[in-house]
Amino acid sequence: MFALWSCTRRPVSCTKVWVSLLTLAALRTSAIPNNEVNLLDSRSVVDDLGWIAYPKNGWEEIGEVDENYSPIHTYQVCKVMEHNQNNWLQTNWILTEGAQRVFVELKFTLRDCNSLPGGLGTCKETFNIFYFESNEKQERVIRESDYVKIDTIAADESFTELDLGDRVMKLNTEVRDLGPLTKKGFYLAFQDVGACIALVSVRVFYKKCPAVVKNLALFPDTITGSDSSQLLEVSGICVNMSVAEDLPRMHCSAEGEWLVPIGKCMCQPGYEEQNGTCQACRPGFFKASAQSPSCNKCPPHSFTRAEGCTSCQCEPGYYRGGSDPDNMACTKPPSAPRNAISNVNETSVLLEWAPPAETGGRRDISYSVVCRKVGSDPWRSEECGGHVRYLPGRTGLRNCSVMVTDLLAHTNYTFEVEAVNGVSYLVAPVRRFVTLNVTTNQAAPSLVSVVKKGRAAKDSIALSWKEPERPNGIILEYEIKYFEKDQETSYTIIKSKETEVIADGLRPSSVYVFQIRARTSAGYGGFSQRFEFETSPYLAASRDQGQLPIVAVAVIVGVVLLALVTGFLLSGRRCGYSIAKQDPDEEKMHFHSGLLQLPGVRTYIDPHTYEDPSQAVHEFAKEIDASCITIERVIGAGEFGEVCSGPLRLPGKREFTVAIKTLKAGYTEKQRRDFLAEASIMGQFDHPNIIHLEGVVTKSKPVMIITEYMENGSLDTFLKKNDGQFTVIQLVGMLRGIASGMRYLSDTGFVHRDLAARNILVNSNLVCKVSDFGLSRVLEDDPEAAYTTRGGKIPIRWTAPEAITFRKFTSASDVWSYGIVMWEVMSYGERPYWEMSNQDVIKAVEENYRLPGPMDCPAVLYQLMMDCWQKERNSRPKFDEIVSLLDKLIRNPISLKTLVNSSDRESNLLVEPRSLDGPIFQSVEDWLEGMKMGRYVETFVESGYTTMELVAQMTLDDLRRVGVSLAGHQKKIASSIQEMRVQLMNGSVTF
Ligand code: AMP
Repeated sequence: MFALWSCTRRPVSCTKVWVSLLTLAALRTSAIPNNEVNLLDSRSVVDDLGWIAYPKNGWEEIGEVDENYSPIHTYQVCKVMEHNQNNWLQTNWILTEGAQRVFVELKFTLRDCNSLPGGLGTCKETFNIFYFESNEKQERVIRESDYVKIDTIAADESFTELDLGDRVMKLNTEVRDLGPLTKKGFYLAFQDVGACIALVSVRVFYKKCPAVVKNLALFPDTITGSDSSQLLEVSGICVNMSVAEDLPRMHCSAEGEWLVPIGKCMCQPGYEEQNGTCQACRPGFFKASAQSPSCNKCPPHSFTRAEGCTSCQCEPGYYRGGSDPDNMACTKPPSAPRNAISNVNETSVLLEWAPPAETGGRRDISYSVVCRKVGSDPWRSEECGGHVRYLPGRTGLRNCSVMVTDLLAHTNYTFEVEAVNGVSYLVAPVRRFVTLNVTTNQAAPSLVSVVKKGRAAKDSIALSWKEPERPNGIILEYEIKYFEKDQETSYTIIKSKETEVIADGLRPSSVYVFQIRARTSAGYGGFSQRFEFETSPYLAASRDQGQLPIVAVAVIVGVVLLALVTGFLLSGRRCGYSIAKQDPDEEKMHFHSGLLQLPGVRTYIDPHTYEDPSQAVHEFAKEIDASCITIERVIGAGEFGEVCSGPLRLPGKREFTVAIKTLKAGYTEKQRRDFLAEASIMGQFDHPNIIHLEGVVTKSKPVMIITEYMENGSLDTFLKKNDGQFTVIQLVGMLRGIASGMRYLSDTGFVHRDLAARNILVNSNLVCKVSDFGLSRVLEDDPEAAYTTRGGKIPIRWTAPEAITFRKFTSASDVWSYGIVMWEVMSYGERPYWEMSNQDVIKAVEENYRLPGPMDCPAVLYQLMMDCWQKERNSRPKFDEIVSLLDKLIRNPISLKTLVNSSDRESNLLVEPRSLDGPIFQSVEDWLEGMKMGRYVETFVESGYTTMELVAQMTLDDLRRVGVSLAGHQKKIASSIQEMRVQLMNGSVTF
């Protein structure tokens, strides 16, 4: 007999066999994942399930217990031998709890029809599953037609009689989902059409994304969407004591997983994150902003006593400046500046001092100066008036020096130099200053500012004037210079002890220009402004008798002078002068074309002293006919036009190549004057190392300046093109040539102001010649020239500091520039100070840093450069000394063998200040690394010890606080700090 027949006869025991054969593991209620929520689980129902079966003899509920005596509810049907089966099993009403997509997990066994030979015709191996949605519990059985079909379920595994015999049960698990559900609840129904099924368990559940805290934001339990591919965007809520910049969001997937977190919450100031919550900072710690990740230890000299602090309070006596960040140590005002000294020069005083011993832990120290004039009563003093000038200023001084000018001569002053920093204003009114008592020297008188015209005759004008406002001593005499308007090169000087004079020997109806200056024992003051007065056209009333001898003398002087002037003009360029006494208080001299000078002494004459510049150019430059010149090619670009080359054919001379500087069309009169000024200067020089002027073309256009042709062009480009190609002797030879040209210029009293390799020209024999002589306009057109704070353009990298700061251009400042040219030559045209900004160059030079020796540069040459860069201009070598030294080196090349110490040229950093011999600690990191304590860099910086100034104040306790716990390390670091303090005190180290 078939087992099933016996089942039909003994259905209960038969079914019991089916179930109890199930493996324990398969039936045991396994833990459900935390993203699933059960709406129904037949295995967890203790009482009868109470589902409705119709017809009544179809599905049958069989209650059993497993080996743990837990109830198992199964529904079974097995009408395989009967035709037309349609057995329905309807569950109870299942609430959706808001879920729109629900899963049904079925566990069942199914009998293999093949193992039922007698029932093959009617036996089925599938059943159907349906659902019906409703908002309330149904009192009636649901009609078949009202159901929606979910699926037909087939078994993956079916069992046979044999399996039963073997006690092997094949349990199937099938999951189906349904949705979107829109009503409060639903019913499930299982339709059997003639299979042998045991429905062992039915679990209905939905999926959710379980509540989670992510990035300090809480995301609540979220039921997944109705669609299997839907992502639900969910906003998070910041956890306690946290805030969000952007609202944090996450996405809940249909599988119940959180995806794509966006945004985050941050713990409020005073709180830090710990395990997904915000905890208050401990006492002694603070957190200033939500953005900082964690609480930080209070920086030095500050503390907190409470929890959850957003900033630390300064210890008594320490302060925090308005713009100081919260993680900066509290600081103090500085002590007074030290070692102040003064250097009086006539009515100017240079005040210099050393920084205060106590910086208060800050770097923003600045200084201000108060000037007081001390009268006869030393206890009473008054503030110096507004006429006194301070360079670079009176307050906010960053450097330890100030130049005070325009003081009164022979006067006692007191200067107070005060140091302040970013917290000084918090401690007012305590002032910390150093005092200097200064007495000014003699000084030249100030300008005569008021000149009046007295009686004018047809050949004379009476003048009177007021004593200068600041005579600065006893006025010994006045000098009155006058000339007929537009005839400046021919002028007369009268000297007078009085404040009035009569200028005579004048032409009727003519305008004369007068300038007056005063002289004291300190020398001449400057000339007054120009005053123009006109002689009368008519015969003036008769002169005073006392004046007659003056006229007589003047007439004689005039005749003698005329003879001398004519003689000089015929013989050469300039004339001499003649002096004729008029009365004991007056002295008269006549000049023509320039300064008073002795024959044979070469002096450079500024062409700008000529009222008419074309006169200057024709005095110093030869006019060349344009037809003698052929322009062949363009070789460069100048400020005023192209620079060309071509042959020059002068009558009776061999043709040779020249350089031709042209003045571009459409020039203004001023441009023409400035253009030709260069020729007027160049024409005065005659030296193998100065570019030679052949002549000018001014009578036709274009206006041209013709000079010797230098085949290799400008030195900087030439060196760059031939990098490393020359022997040291060749380079020294070039330097010698430049120095020799400069010696010649300084001997004539000419200050170049723009000496740089770009302004040196090189010919085919490697002879270097100084060029570019354009007075102030040179600097205007030099692309390297930059505006300084005092106005005017200066090629910063080539210029001596005093020339930058005070416009003190001298041959000594040209020597500084020569040192830079040496450096350019020895480094084959490298740019001085590389890409540093002009401001940084000024600062570095001011702080005594200098360019390092170029690669392979002989030490003796580098030493010469360094000498040229002495801060004190009088200590720099003179050009004649430079020429002799270079001559010596050329004669003795062995002396060039020793090269610059590699440490001086290793990097492109400037060399250390020469006045300091101790090391400079640049950063806390360098210092710690230097003693192999690099592991503490982070903790030091985190605890606020970001500068060496702060480190220098650390105690052993501070070291422990920052986390240096090993005694050996504490000792090592502490002794380095101690050593640093000693060096600081004796000034051998600085920050
Ligand atoms: P400058 O206006 O004097 O700076 O001249 C501009 C450029 O023209 C220079 O940089 C040189 O390359 C070239 N140059 C000027 N004068 C001469 C010269 N005498 N011989 C050869 N090239 C010159």
